[in-house]
Amino acid sequence: MDYKDTINLPKTDFPMKANLSEKEPEILKRWEGLYEKLRAQRKGKQLFVLHDGPPYANGNIHIGHALNKILKDIICKVALIEGFDVDYKPGWDCHGLPIEQQVEKELKAKKINKESIPKDEFRRLCREYASKFVSIQKEEFLRLGVLGDWENPYLTMDPKYEAQEVREIGRCLQNGVLYKGNKPVYWCIYDKTAEAEAEVEYKEKKDISIYVRFELLKQSENVLRQKLDLPDKPISIVIWTTTPWTLPANLGVMASEDIEYVVVEEDNYLLLLEKQSQYVKNKEFIASLKGKELTGLEYQHPFIERTGKIYPSEFVEAGTGTGFVHMAPGHGMEDYIVGLRYGLEPFSPVDESGRFTEEAPEFIRGLNVFEANTVIIEHLKQTGFLLKEEEILHSYPHCWRCKNPVIYRATPQWFIGVDIKSQKLHNKSIREKAIEETYNVKWVPKTGQNRMLSMLQNRPDWCISRQRFWGVPITIFYCKRCGEPLLESHIFEYVAKIFEHSPYGADEWFKKDEKELLPPDTVCKKCGSKDFVKETDILDVWFDSGSSHASVLRPRGIEKADVYLEGSDQHRGWFQASLLESIASYGEAPFKSVVTHGFTVDEKGHKMSKSQGNVISPLEIIKEYGADILRLWVISEDYTEDIKLGKSILKRLAEDYKKIRNTLRYCLGNLYDFKYEFSIAPDKLHHFDRYMYAYASKVFEELFSFYKNYQYHRFYHRLMEFVSIDLSALYFDVLKDRLYMYKNGSFERLSAQTVLYFLLKNLTILLSPVLSFTAEETYSYMKSIENHLPESIFMNEYKASDFTDEELLKDYQKLLLLRKDVLKAIEVERKNDIIKHPYEARVVIKLNEEFYKLLEKYKDYLHSFFTVSQVEIAENDGEEGEYTKLRIKVEKAKGEKCPRCWLYVETMINGVCPRCSQNI
Ligand SMILES: [Zn+2]
Ligand SMILES: [Zn+2]
Ligand SMILES: [Zn+2]
Repeated sequence: MDYKDTINLPKTDFPMKANLSEKEPEILKRWEGLYEKLRAQRKGKQLFVLHDGPPYANGNIHIGHALNKILKDIICKVALIEGFDVDYKPGWDCHGLPIEQQVEKELKAKKINKESIPKDEFRRLCREYASKFVSIQKEEFLRLGVLGDWENPYLTMDPKYEAQEVREIGRCLQNGVLYKGNKPVYWCIYDKTAEAEAEVEYKEKKDISIYVRFELLKQSENVLRQKLDLPDKPISIVIWTTTPWTLPANLGVMASEDIEYVVVEEDNYLLLLEKQSQYVKNKEFIASLKGKELTGLEYQHPFIERTGKIYPSEFVEAGTGTGFVHMAPGHGMEDYIVGLRYGLEPFSPVDESGRFTEEAPEFIRGLNVFEANTVIIEHLKQTGFLLKEEEILHSYPHCWRCKNPVIYRATPQWFIGVDIKSQKLHNKSIREKAIEETYNVKWVPKTGQNRMLSMLQNRPDWCISRQRFWGVPITIFYCKRCGEPLLESHIFEYVAKIFEHSPYGADEWFKKDEKELLPPDTVCKKCGSKDFVKETDILDVWFDSGSSHASVLRPRGIEKADVYLEGSDQHRGWFQASLLESIASYGEAPFKSVVTHGFTVDEKGHKMSKSQGNVISPLEIIKEYGADILRLWVISEDYTEDIKLGKSILKRLAEDYKKIRNTLRYCLGNLYDFKYEFSIAPDKLHHFDRYMYAYASKVFEELFSFYKNYQYHRFYHRLMEFVSIDLSALYFDVLKDRLYMYKNGSFERLSAQTVLYFLLKNLTILLSPVLSFTAEETYSYMKSIENHLPESIFMNEYKASDFTDEELLKDYQKLLLLRKDVLKAIEVERKNDIIKHPYEARVVIKLNEEFYKLLEKYKDYLHSFFTVSQVEIAENDGEEGEYTKLRIKVEKAKGEKCPRCWLYVETMINGVCPRCSQNI
């Protein structure tokens, strides 16, 4: 008789080979409209909002985008299986310089000058450019399996969005935190625009540093001579600078009140500088005095008809330079701050392209500041004011777009004043309130809080104006006669309405004139004039994205997002812009928690770059392996640090994926004849199944808590351990004999199947946030097992099983240790050729009383548990020892081999073992 047909082998159409790159697009089609269906299904449940930080609509997506969007998707899907109504509206950052430059380039290729076409026409081209990349990126993000409101994403160039920004400017003005000031800001002379803190990068730069002599005026010299006994030679103070080009803008000199200054004699003059300065090393001091005695002394500028004074400053330190810092309040932040105290104006004789203006001395007029450096040094040398020059390498700010060094330049700009106390903030400043709010936010990882705090403590006012074309205009009108700006909120609302109701949105600012943009009969409150002129500056793009909470969340009644998630560089960028804008406008943070991720590096830990040739495109990975492998990669390492990616890592991930897939397939294959209704109550299960039910319940809880705590790599490691050790090597292995040999509908089979379905369903739900495609695929096979399952895996919630059996768990803990030793002993005898297959083995175990009692309890099942034919247990015959020293003997099984199940038995019935005889 051929017993093959009487054996219950697994049956399933669920393919062993995933073929993800072909299957995933089919599943994506099934997901069309899923987001909307989910919102409908969860209506009324607690809302969970992940607010998307908008990527820039420029270029195809890279691996960093993939990491970012997949992490967001995992967070949202975890919230889904937790039962929330999940809101995720993807967005794009559409304005800004990179797009403007691309459009300029395209125009140049057609020999068209940007300035020769109307501003609104140029903006139309920028809009088209951004739209093109929004569609491209949207398709690519969808391909990753990211679920969200892709039908209605938010774009910072949407008329509605732009209108809300106009209202935000109005709110900031009314809250008293927005002001126009003439102060130094980072300025790129190549891009001809102001730049934000977040837009500069510090890089090493080679410069010439110089020591320059500033001669004291006669009356100041006399003041010193009254205090000190000095030779009769002219006295000079010595300044040190690395930016000689700022000397034409010199208006004063800062000194520290607390450090000690000395006088040294050199050639025909006396030099005054700080005692620890390198310059006076090994020189003889002929006098010394405290810095505070220098305040108010006056000097003559070395090449301009101008005198300046010495001012006390907290920014001067001993050890670097000379203890005298030359002040150009128009070209340095500290210079500006101290200058403001003493009434010095932010003087800047440099135009937008970095050239010296008419206000500069003739010998440098028209030169670019960096060219002027050497000319000024040469001039100082010839006139005898240069004491020393040396090359230095220092960290210097560079433009993050064109990579050129930036300068500080004072121009009239709009600022959000971070230290202005506002009534809206109960008389606190934005800085104070923002610092306070960091304590109310959950930071993942925790270090995020300190990063944010240290940035908030040191940041200057936020310059929000830009002198460019492609952005949201700063919609402020000035009185033509007296210059007073119009601040009333209804004016902002009026403009916002115009933008909102026009398909051109903010382009209207440039299309229409002042009369068309203002409510009729607007009058200047100060002078009564009816003529106004509009601001031409546009908003910093960080204001665009920073106010996204106001455009995307608040109008829909959402005051705070549950999560903001971006790369860790965004403490400086989007997180901070959002926090400051939200506080300026609404007095509170826009997020409850902030999660940050690191960056992708290659397998050796090096940064990915085109020049290194180690860039991996997410789209290529998807083509070769499928999006689920990419998604698995995201959780395979701690994302709060930098994550490695490369060919061998992908191979390893594909192996792990296979293990997971085989687990699901094993369950499905052995459930072909099972229906959910056949399930046996947990406490009535076979003890081995009951053990797995109780054990797996605990594992699932553990996995779920890793999810909730954003510890995805811990989820991954626990999952792989469960799949390969607890399931594949133990449960599934032991179960094979029972599943294959018992009849359909027998208790032995049903008991095992009950647990297999329990494992399958929970695993599929728990895998769905990460292996979304595979989970949905598996789920479609579950529908024939359980009726009335909702349409998609994502419509299911993870429900904790509270079933447990502590005594059984403890027993099995010991049995499992024993099993390890038994398997080892079998392996030894297999190598010795005593047996060829574990089924040929009879295991004799002698053990102490405690273990003997335990094994007695499970006597009938032990041979299955050890996957052998026979087990004999006996009490230890007097020899002492722990169970590890127990004596395990493996010998050839007694009797003959059952032709159906291959187990050895001593008695046969009708040519098979007694068990098989009942299951044919
Ligand atoms: Zn630049
Ligand atoms: Zn006026
Ligand atoms: Zn048999």
